[in-house]
Amino acid sequence: MKLILMGLPGAGKGTQAERIVEEFHIPHISTGDMFRAAIKEGTELGLKAKSFMDQGQLVPDEVTIGIVRERLGKDDCKKGFLLDGFPRTVAQAEALEQMLSDLQRTLDYVIHIHVDQSLLMERLTGRRICKECGATYHLVFNPPTQEGICDKCGGELYQRHDDNAETVGNRLEVNTKQMEPLLNFYDQKGYLRTINGEQDIHDVFADINQVLGGLSK
Ligand SMILES: [Zn+2]
Repeated sequence: MKLILMGLPGAGKGTQAERIVEEFHIPHISTGDMFRAAIKEGTELGLKAKSFMDQGQLVPDEVTIGIVRERLGKDDCKKGFLLDGFPRTVAQAEALEQMLSDLQRTLDYVIHIHVDQSLLMERLTGRRICKECGATYHLVFNPPTQEGICDKCGGELYQRHDDNAETVGNRLEVNTKQMEPLLNFYDQKGYLRTINGEQDIHDVFADINQVLGGLSK
């Protein structure tokens, strides 16, 4: 089972990734984890990536692609993998096609969890955090009993700056622009499966499972 998972922030990618890797016994390969591992192991590419990150620069495609290639070549990826956070660009997607073909493998599906922008705004801007104990709430999905007050410790609830409407709106717009060409790329290749992410998380997973059910585990 060789999969790519895509979705905007707030679409529930993390939750579904956990369930997919548990159900299908494949490694979850997120870009962040992969970079951290390569840096920790001190591989040549890991050190290169680190030198860019230390200077606050974006890691160039060739380094990112090299790290993905090393990771996909490891034994635990033989039975499959779930890629998360890669590819981010069509150039990276093309490089991925090439490296899979070199490994004599092909993708099975690109799972896209779709949630309407307005609902994502609601999900992402509704978060509130307790100043005292760090407990998290959501105005709509997990509201405190008393507005603005933590149920656990009585502390004051606040909104993180990253969660305000303007910042969230910008983040969604940037991510949408980045993702659209990739969705088209994979749609044209016949890999894309779009899942309705506006349902209950159990139903989202049931739909993903139905798409993947045709493949042997
Ligand atoms: Zn609290």
